[in-house]
This record gives sequence, C-alpha cells and structure tokens, in this order.
Amino acid sequence: MPDWKLGMFDWNGTLLDDRDLMKGCLQAIFRRYELPTPSWESFCDEVGLNFMPFYQKHGIPADTNPDDLRAIRKKFIKRRWRQAGLYSTARTLLWACKKNSAARVIVSAEQKDLLEKCLENFNLHDCFDAYFAQAYDKEIKIREVLNTFQCKPEEAFYVDDIADGILAAKRVGVTSIGVAHGYNSKAKLASSKPDYLADNLFEVIRILFKVEPLGERPWE
Ligand SMILES: [Mg+2]
Repeated sequence: MPDWKLGMFDWNGTLLDDRDLMKGCLQAIFRRYELPTPSWESFCDEVGLNFMPFYQKHGIPADTNPDDLRAIRKKFIKRRWRQAGLYSTARTLLWACKKNSAARVIVSAEQKDLLEKCLENFNLHDCFDAYFAQAYDKEIKIREVLNTFQCKPEEAFYVDDIADGILAAKRVGVTSIGVAHGYNSKAKLASSKPDYLADNLFEVIRILFKVEPLGERPWE
C-alpha cells in the first residue's frame, strides 16, 4: 500500500448519508410526473452517474432535461437538508488522511450551492483541501485533480458509492474503493470491479491505512 498523497471522495452517499432525503426526492419527482415511484431497491440496482436512463426506464419522458429533475430535487431538499448527516466515520476517515499527510478533495456531481451549504452546515470546509461540485464527468475531474495536486495515479485513491464513479477512477488508474452504504447496491458496485469494496467507512480506513479505527478517537 503506497503512502497516499491524495484522497478523493464522492459526496452524496459516500461521506454524506442522504438516503432518506433521496427517497423523498424520488417520490417528489415521480409524483410530479404522475407516475408510480420505483422501489428504493430498484434505484440502488440501476441508478448511475448519468441518472436519466433510470428515470426514463421508469416512465419519465425521454425529452426531459436533467436540470428539470435537479430543480425538483433541489426544491425538495432545500427545507429538509438537515435530514442528511455525515456517515459516522466520515470525520475519522478525513482525520486519518490528514494524519497521513494525504490531501483531501471532494469530487461530486452535487449542485454547487447545495454542496457548499452542507460543508458549511457540518463545519467541514477546513477538512478539505479542495472541493469540486457539478463534476458530471468524474474521469475528467479526477484527472484534473491529479494534475492540480501534481500527483501520480498510483499515489491517489478515490472513494465512491456508485459504480460509474469506480469505473471512472479505474480508467484514470487511481486506486478505487467502492463503499456499499449509499446509493448503489453492493452487487451493482461489485460489477464495476473496484480495487476494494467496503461495507462502510470503517472498512475504508482499514483498507487505506492498515489500522483498526476503533479505540482512540480524539477527532469526534
Ligand atoms: Mg454518490
């Protein structure tokens, strides 16, 4: 295992546990189109970074603009964002990166103002060296971050809860870690063949730093 210089993280479903919010968003979107809401299980098995195929498969008109769905989601989330929380070991993971001198960067497809609101809410701005929102092409953004931090792919890792993010990381050549506590099911994540597949962030810490994260936790 190398000495990591750079850790990159997806946000929604990876560090942020917003599954309940997303379930509500699903209902709000399908209600708007007067369609039955698909099950959460089908969402987890099917949704990708490009989310339109999932919605179209379940009846949303083919000519719908992704921004229309983003707008419904944003409206739904705006008054409810406190329902989302950090996964319990997210701060621990970030602390472990810092302790090991690895830069920490968010690479997220989230809308910029929503991501910034969250970082402010959780007082997390200082925990990251950089954050990038609306990164709809994760491969391009991961390459950009490597360049910015003058880092080789083998010195960096990327953590995501969605198979498409893992595939992007693999194309760049950074170590890919799937974490199966977010949007995609473990089976869907496994289909992308990540370098490592974890059930939670505790396991991610164990994988990355070969340490047992239980015990002393001065950062909590
Ligand atoms: Mg995600």
